Amino acid sequence: MIILVEPDGVADAERHLRGLGLWTRRFASGASVALSVSSSSTAVPLSAIRAVRGVVAVLEADSPHPLLDAMPRVVRVGAVLVGGDQPVVCAGPCSVESEGQIDRLAGAVAAHGGHILRGGVWKPRTSPHGFQGVGAEGLAWLVAAARRHGLAVMTEVVSERDVDRVAAVVDAIQVGARSMHSQALLRAVGAANKPVVLKRAFSASLEEWLLAGEALLMAGAAGVIFCERGVRGPDGGARNVLDVGAIAVLRHAWGLPVLVDPSHAAGRKDIVIPLARAGLAAGAVGVVIEVHDRPAEALSDAPQAVDPALLAGLVR
Ligand code: PEP
Ligand code: MN
Repeated sequence: MIILVEPDGVADAERHLRGLGLWTRRFASGASVALSVSSSSTAVPLSAIRAVRGVVAVLEADSPHPLLDAMPRVVRVGAVLVGGDQPVVCAGPCSVESEGQIDRLAGAVAAHGGHILRGGVWKPRTSPHGFQGVGAEGLAWLVAAARRHGLAVMTEVVSERDVDRVAAVVDAIQVGARSMHSQALLRAVGAANKPVVLKRAFSASLEEWLLAGEALLMAGAAGVIFCERGVRGPDGGARNVLDVGAIAVLRHAWGLPVLVDPSHAAGRKDIVIPLARAGLAAGAVGVVIEVHDRPAEALSDAPQAVDPALLAGLVR
């Protein structure tokens, strides 16, 4: 339940509502102030809530994620509409490795019909011995490459510390699979008021994934785009199990924008394009694909990096 209150009377209204046994949390909702009420709060008659001074409206929601339900279905990332009529192609290397590498790959992504450039500068690696990314320096290379080749740009943040400097220059912020459960990071990223691409954690249920999206919106995100990148499951010969059922539910039951990342699901280049097509067939509004023109030199996720030429014609 969401309770809209007069900006002047928020503290009083909050005190009264808490006195009734309702757990409330304050967040900004346009010009007014809204209080969200936990569904596990005591059942209080609506008439009693409406009678509290300062309460303007009570929005009942039977869904646990009312903000997601009300979110516009098309999310703008720079000049790119995600969830509109045209499926989007987001592509780039797993990691930004050098100024020359990201510029070459941005050129290749643009030449083969891509819309959004991706590339990690801080890499959340499973092994602490693996390449951890070039850091903040790479952010400037990534953004310059995207702008030079007319692409929108997104990158992942792994720390609250970096949110502001990333938000200042990119079109969308990625929250990675390993960070989906980090409430502190979700709050910090949401507060940047940017569109967010939210990857699904390795074993997250649909509900957990949706509620992480709700947390981003509650903190102020300008829109949430979900990204299915494969989950833990039995060994099917791929790195992860691409959950096309989850893509279909998000898109067809909830109407939400969802991308498919076949690269991290596959972990091997030979099945990246077939899995991309499976995700699109299930309802994905676009793809996120890792590409490299010199895979032998790639510093992370080399086995799944495909030739950028394979992007051509994928979504038409
Ligand atoms: C990535 O996009 O490079 C990445 C680390 O993905 P994930 O969070 O899905 O593992
Ligand atoms: Mn990767």
